[in-house]
Amino acid sequence: MHPLHLFQYCPRCGSHRFVENNASSKRCEDCGFVYYINPKAAVAAFVMDNRSRLLVCRRAFEPSKGMLDLPGGFTECGETVEEAVARELSEEIGWYPDQMRYMYSFPNIYRYSGFDVHTMDLFFLCKYKGDSGALAAHDDVESCFWLSRDEIHPDRFAFQSVRRAITLLLNDDACWQVD
Ligand SMILES: [Zn+2]
Repeated sequence: MHPLHLFQYCPRCGSHRFVENNASSKRCEDCGFVYYINPKAAVAAFVMDNRSRLLVCRRAFEPSKGMLDLPGGFTECGETVEEAVARELSEEIGWYPDQMRYMYSFPNIYRYSGFDVHTMDLFFLCKYKGDSGALAAHDDVESCFWLSRDEIHPDRFAFQSVRRAITLLLNDDACWQVD
C-alpha cells in the first residue's frame, strides 16, 4: 500500500486527481503540486543510573498502551535531536539531561489515528547522576522504574525499533560498566 494512500485530494487545489508519483510521493495532475513522505525523526533515551540500571517506562496511551518503552518522542519543527531528547525527558520524567551520547538509529512504523507513520528513531545514552528514586512519571508515561541488565527482555518493549536498540545495548558491555 502506498504510504500516502489516505491522502486522496491535492492539499493545494483540492483536486481528486492526486496520483502516485513514485514510491514515496504523490503528484497533482491539475496543478502540478508534488508531496513527498519521509520518515519523521523521533528520539528515545537510554537513561542509566550510577548503579548501571536502565530507566524503563510503561506506556499510558495507545498505541501499545501498557507495554514497556523508553522515554522519548517526536522531534518538533526547528529543534535539534539533542533538544528533543532533553525536552522529552523533562516532560516525561522531570529531568533535564546535561549531556548525552548518540548510539543507534532504527526505522519504525507507528500506527496512529488509523495511519502508518514512518519514523526514524534515534537512540541516545544519558547518564543520570542524581537520586534514582527522585524521577517520576509525567505526561504520556504511566509509570517508570529502573531495571538491571539481567531484568531487561527486549520482547516486552512496544516497538520493533526499541527492541532492536535494546538488544544492541544489552550486548554492549562498555555501557553497563559502573563508573
Ligand atoms: Zn492540485
